[in-house]
Amino acid sequence: MSSVDLRSFIRDVPDFPKPGILFRDITPLLSDPDALQAAVRAVAAPFRDAGIERVMGIESRGFIFGAPLALELGAGLTIVRKQGKLPFETTSVTYDLEYGTDTVEMHVDAVKQGQKVLLADDLIATGGTAAAAVKLARQAGADVVGCAFLIELAALGGRKLLDVDRIHTVIEY
Ligand code: AMP
Repeated sequence: MSSVDLRSFIRDVPDFPKPGILFRDITPLLSDPDALQAAVRAVAAPFRDAGIERVMGIESRGFIFGAPLALELGAGLTIVRKQGKLPFETTSVTYDLEYGTDTVEMHVDAVKQGQKVLLADDLIATGGTAAAAVKLARQAGADVVGCAFLIELAALGGRKLLDVDRIHTVIEY
């Protein structure tokens, strides 16, 4: 295990992006070479021998961890984006927010039938975004092996929304 105290690189920003939200800012961690490397390795650790073929990174901070995770695991990277951003033909899933709905998309050829997929994001809060991405992967016939997050806001109970066997988080608040 690494000796880097990852939690000390997360900056708490109160009332961002709106009053009452305590934003967990990962940019200090990203700018420290040792912390960044330790974080990527810690997120990847339980999945090293899981035969992961695709890491699915969720816009936008999931992209930051998705690419190095894919390299660590010898997998390819699939990007899941907000509606209207991907250039080619897409599949989509719409999910509920506190007010209204949101839609995530991926390219139709991004994941193949039976492929072993690991879903990745920087943080799980309510779990809505990750659950939508899991649905997107399963619609394409993927085998969702697990979900990996650097940070979990445990009080929000997001992992309960994920019908996935292996959910791995590194820093819990
Ligand atoms: P959710 O769908 O509620 O699990 O929200 C997850 C997404 O929102 C992640 O991609 C996070 O980057 C972002 N997010 C939600 N809450 C926070 C927070 N308190 N601090 C930083 N990012 C957050």
